Amino acid sequence: MSANTKKVITILLIVIITAFTACTGNKDNIQDNDQVVETEGNQGENIPPTDKEPEEIVEDEPEPEQEVSQTLGLDELKDLKVNELGKIMVIMYHGIGENEEEWVRTPENFRKDLKTLYDNGYRAIGMKDYIEGNIDTPPGTTPVILTFDDGLQNQFNILDDGGDFEVDPDSAVGILEEFNEQYPDFGLKATFYVFYPVPFRQEELIAKKFEYLVEKGMEIGNHAYTHENLRADMNTKEPRDAQFVQEALGKNVQLTQEILPGYEVDSLALPYGAAPQDEDVFNYVVKGSFEGTEYHHKVVLLVGSNPARSPYHIETNMARLPRVRGSEMNTEGTGIYDWLDYFDKNPEERFISDGDPNTISFPKELEEYMDPERAGGRTIQAYE
Ligand SMILES: [Zn+2]
Repeated sequence: MSANTKKVITILLIVIITAFTACTGNKDNIQDNDQVVETEGNQGENIPPTDKEPEEIVEDEPEPEQEVSQTLGLDELKDLKVNELGKIMVIMYHGIGENEEEWVRTPENFRKDLKTLYDNGYRAIGMKDYIEGNIDTPPGTTPVILTFDDGLQNQFNILDDGGDFEVDPDSAVGILEEFNEQYPDFGLKATFYVFYPVPFRQEELIAKKFEYLVEKGMEIGNHAYTHENLRADMNTKEPRDAQFVQEALGKNVQLTQEILPGYEVDSLALPYGAAPQDEDVFNYVVKGSFEGTEYHHKVVLLVGSNPARSPYHIETNMARLPRVRGSEMNTEGTGIYDWLDYFDKNPEERFISDGDPNTISFPKELEEYMDPERAGGRTIQAYE
């Protein structure tokens, strides 16, 4: 007899016995009979589980009592110096190439950057993670965001080998993938800020590359239609107006969404780091529409020179988020190694994760900097 059949019989018994005793009107009997039925029910549960009706048996089992809490205890928060109101580096790269230049990193140096970040407790998150405040790097680690401007071929190059879609191991994507195979807990996260007409410069492969990036968990951002200066015409110095800005940004999103229908382009890297000075026009950098394509950049990146603040920090301006330069040349204190040194000397300024994306933890003395509107339903935990 299966557990299910036995159950049905038990229920029938309850109905019959209850009906019978109700008819006799004997309250003592009702109680006695109820006890008997309960005992029978318990015996039913003792039947060892079979493969046939696993769901039925699981339903009867009590809820597991041991709740696994991801939240760190007070001692651990203190030991790790958890600070989720601390600063996060958004690193800006351009080319990856044979010769190191101001805007070009050699493959060797880019590998060195990744290893140095990893060894110093940095773990990659996506721009969308930052926007959503969804930071799930392990306890004690610091998130870092990798960005690549201009959609150059050496960022994502496919070797011509007869159509096998072989990623150039010395292009940025190839290096990131190789690094993540070696150190899977680093995170295969990066955002590529592309412009048109040919992102990554291999025309027949644009769609394949976009699909590949998104499938791997990497992101595509806006870098204007053809890398327009959004502040002013470079020749005439004429300031840009709302229509110009919307066309330059809307066309980029329109073309990306033609390749990736429904893809949300939610961040922009300002070409040349140049933004309209007029605040009314600047609003169209954040939000606007062109020929029916609407866009909303929840983060606007500067070319900048500083680490960004935590996404939960009250002073964070997502419409003008600074970046650190992924370079060692002419950085004058604004490069990745300058800031790595800085955080070694000023560890209290560094974002240090509690490992739980649903809890925002920080030392009590920073409480006034927590923006509750950015918590997004997460638990806020100020510790002393
Ligand atoms: Zn650019």
